[in-house]
Amino acid sequence: MAKADFYETLGVSRSADEKELKSAFRKLAMKYHPDKNPGDAEAEKTFKEINEAYETLKDPQKRAAYDRFGHAAFEQGGMGGGGFGGGGGFAGGGFSDIFEDIFGEMMGGGRGGARARSSGGRERGADLRYNMEISLEEAYAGKTAQIRVPTSITCDVCSGSGAKPGTKPTTCSTCQGSGRVRAAQGFFSIERTCPTCHGRGQTISDPCTKCHGQGRVTEERQLSVSIPAGIEDGTRIRLQGEGEAGLRGGPSGDLYIFLSVKPHQFFQREGADLYCSVPISMTTAALGGTFDVTTLDGTKSRVTVPEGTQSGKQFRLKGKGMPVLRSQQMGDLYIQIQIETPQKLTKRQRELLQEFEQISSKENNPESTGFFARMKEFFEG
Ligand SMILES: [Zn+2]
Ligand SMILES: [Zn+2]
Repeated sequence: MAKADFYETLGVSRSADEKELKSAFRKLAMKYHPDKNPGDAEAEKTFKEINEAYETLKDPQKRAAYDRFGHAAFEQGGMGGGGFGGGGGFAGGGFSDIFEDIFGEMMGGGRGGARARSSGGRERGADLRYNMEISLEEAYAGKTAQIRVPTSITCDVCSGSGAKPGTKPTTCSTCQGSGRVRAAQGFFSIERTCPTCHGRGQTISDPCTKCHGQGRVTEERQLSVSIPAGIEDGTRIRLQGEGEAGLRGGPSGDLYIFLSVKPHQFFQREGADLYCSVPISMTTAALGGTFDVTTLDGTKSRVTVPEGTQSGKQFRLKGKGMPVLRSQQMGDLYIQIQIETPQKLTKRQRELLQEFEQISSKENNPESTGFFARMKEFFEG
C-alpha cells in the first residue's frame, strides 16, 4: 500500500514553515492521541502516521531529503538509514522528544500516555533534554561539567506512593484496580479509562501532604557530566535514569545532553582535522619567511614559508588537530595561506612596484603571463 504524503497527513502545504507544522501537528495529535481514543485502533494508526510525518518534516535535513526523494529517502538503506539525526544512539528518541515538547506541557499528569501506563498507575518519568554549549578548547581537552537540572524526583516522605505515611492507596472500587471500565453503547461495549482513578487502579484517600498524592516533587539537582575529549558538535549524551522520576514508583526517564560546540575564531573543524586560514603579506610570500601559530594544546608551532609561496598553499602540522574520540589518535592542523595584496600605497611604494613590474619576466609569473592568450587558443583553436 502506498504511504500517504507527509504534508497531506499533516494537512499543510509543502511550503509550510516550522510554526505551521508544529501547530498542525499539535491539533492532530490532540485529536488522535490514544488517551483520547482508548481502544480505537484506527485513531492509533493515524496518531502514528502524524507522528512520523512530523518527525520527518520538523528536521530540516530529513525534510530536504523527503522533498527530493519522497519516502524512498528513508526506506532504502542508502540515504536514510542512520545517516540522519546526527550523533545517533538515540533509540526511539523522537517520540519522547515530542512528548516532552508538546504533551508534557499540555497534558500535565497524562504525560507518558497510554504506552507508559501499567497497573497500579505507575508511569515512567519523562525524558529530559538539556542543551549544553562548549568551546572548541573544551571539546579538545574534555571536561567535567556541573549542570543543574530542574526535575521531579520521588517524594521522600511517602516513598513515591502518594499516600500519607502510615496509610496505603486503596484499590479503586469503580474499576477494581484495572484502571479501565466498560460501558455498553448500543451493541458495543466500549472500554475506557476509569474516571474515578484516571487509570491508576488505585485511589488515595489520605494524600501525602508534601507531594499532594503525586508521589513526586520538583527539585533542582546538580549533576556532574563528563565530556570526553574529541567530542563532536551535535552529540547527544544519554544519562540513563537521570530524567524525571516516574509517577507512583514507576521508573525514571533519561536525561539527554544535547551538545553543541561553539564556532572558533581561528580554527574550523572537519572531523578530527582543523583548518586555519593565515594571511601573509605579498612580500613574505615572494621572499619567504616564518611565523608561529598557537595551537589548541597551548604550544606554538613554527611554519616556514618558502620563497614563491602561492595563495591557497596548505601546510600540515601533524598531530596538531583534535583528539579522536576514545582513542590515542590526533587529527592534523592545516594552515591555509592567504596572500594579502598591499593597499593604500604611498607614492614611493607605487614607484617601486612599477619599477618591479617593468623588470619582471615571464618566469616570475608563469600562471598569469599569457593566461588569456592560452584560453583564447583553447576555445578558438
Ligand atoms: Zn509524598
Ligand atoms: Zn478506577
